[in-house]
Amino acid sequence: MALYGKHNQEKHDVLSPIFGSVSEDHDLPKYKLNQTPVEPRIAYQVIKDQLLDEGNARLNLATFCQTYMEPEAIQLMSETLEKNAIDKSEYPRTAEIENRCVNMMADLWHAQPEEEFLGTSTVGSSEACMLGGLAMKFAWRKRAESLGLDTSAQKPNLVISTGYQVCWEKFCTYWDIELRTVPMDKEHQSLNMETVMDYVDPYTIGIVGIMGITYTGRYDNIKQLNDLVEAYNSHTDFKVYIHVDAASGGFYAPFMEPEIAWDFRLKNVISINTSGHKYGLVYPGIGWILWRDKAFLPEELIFRVSYLGGEIPTMAINFSRSASQIIGQYYNFIRYGYDGYRAIHQRTHDVALYLAKEIKALDCFEMVNDGAHLPIICYKQKDAKQQEWTLYDLADRLAMKGWQVPAYPLPADLDQTEVQRLVVRADFGMGMAHDYIEDMKAAIADLDRAHILFHEKKEIKNYGFTH
Ligand SMILES: *Cc1c(COP(=O)(O)O)cnc(C)c1O
Repeated sequence: MALYGKHNQEKHDVLSPIFGSVSEDHDLPKYKLNQTPVEPRIAYQVIKDQLLDEGNARLNLATFCQTYMEPEAIQLMSETLEKNAIDKSEYPRTAEIENRCVNMMADLWHAQPEEEFLGTSTVGSSEACMLGGLAMKFAWRKRAESLGLDTSAQKPNLVISTGYQVCWEKFCTYWDIELRTVPMDKEHQSLNMETVMDYVDPYTIGIVGIMGITYTGRYDNIKQLNDLVEAYNSHTDFKVYIHVDAASGGFYAPFMEPEIAWDFRLKNVISINTSGHKYGLVYPGIGWILWRDKAFLPEELIFRVSYLGGEIPTMAINFSRSASQIIGQYYNFIRYGYDGYRAIHQRTHDVALYLAKEIKALDCFEMVNDGAHLPIICYKQKDAKQQEWTLYDLADRLAMKGWQVPAYPLPADLDQTEVQRLVVRADFGMGMAHDYIEDMKAAIADLDRAHILFHEKKEIKNYGFTH
């Protein structure tokens, strides 16, 4: 979470309630506790008012995170906020619900019957990736030591494309691992299969493939990566395995592209994470991680908590958190089933294709991702067009209509390319897409006519959309 300090204090340091009530006669300090309580209605209104101009989450086309849930789901989740997910003994039914979710996902991701999968819910993919990374690190060390490698002679490394989400940089920094990045070039814009194995050595704890690169929405070719790893492993005792970061794709591909083998169908994929709050359709924050077999999750990382007179194994960075998100995930599973998820994603996909078609027809942009896989549209300005305005200007214009559309440079090696990205989610209907295209056309017409520019055309503003 953000780190705040004294320097964050505003000069105007009081809140003044404006609604007619005695308790509104005094100001509330912003940076100290008020001495006396205020009425619940006043507290509610004062806070609600502060959030008024924050932007409408449904119009936020920057986020992968869910911005809509059904009233029944919200009710159920509000009614279960007090349940602590770690108290397995006190809330055994809730524990069973989490267990069912893990089993359903193991089925979706083709866990193999002869193996013993293990999995858990997490706060999000970031925690899930930490757990997956830790399991890889510990398992690597055990394998390497048994082969006589001096594991302290060199930092262990993790191989991933430069399109990685920031959680992997965090994992490597927090746990002292070298983040070994494979450059993405213009042609691939995903993990480069021609070079990836050049980055692997006996100190490699694992390779991460990404099902849904955050910047562009593209998939790494996990099947080909699996083949490369298979060939590599056949020649060495220092085996290497794959973790798939399927934060976005894990709840999308199984429904929309069941023919793509990226999961436990592939022998060298040992663990997979996903975000329940992305295409799993739950409000933030919930994530999941599964290992194909308990052999890949070292025992020393497992902590036992009491459960119905016995014990249950757990793995987590956090301890206490509300179980309501897990219950929300289970609600969606029951409510939608396989066909429901598929139908929702199909509609989302149709909207994405419509947007891509309309944006292409504007003749100003070159598509970087056209929503063929994940419903994510990513485009850049056509070089030949030499427009006076930039994608940042367009983002600002769209913001005037309430749309939040990010513009940002692609990651290292492609960072001369600036793109704009639309993440289409289930609550972005065709009607909204029509409205968006109208507003986009109007914004471009305005910008084409404008002749005052307030900043250098070459300026790269990084809006920091790494989520
Ligand atoms: C969003 C994302 C993450 C982080 O997920 P959270 O659930 O927000 O913690 C990790 N990896 C990829 C590829 C992502 O898209």
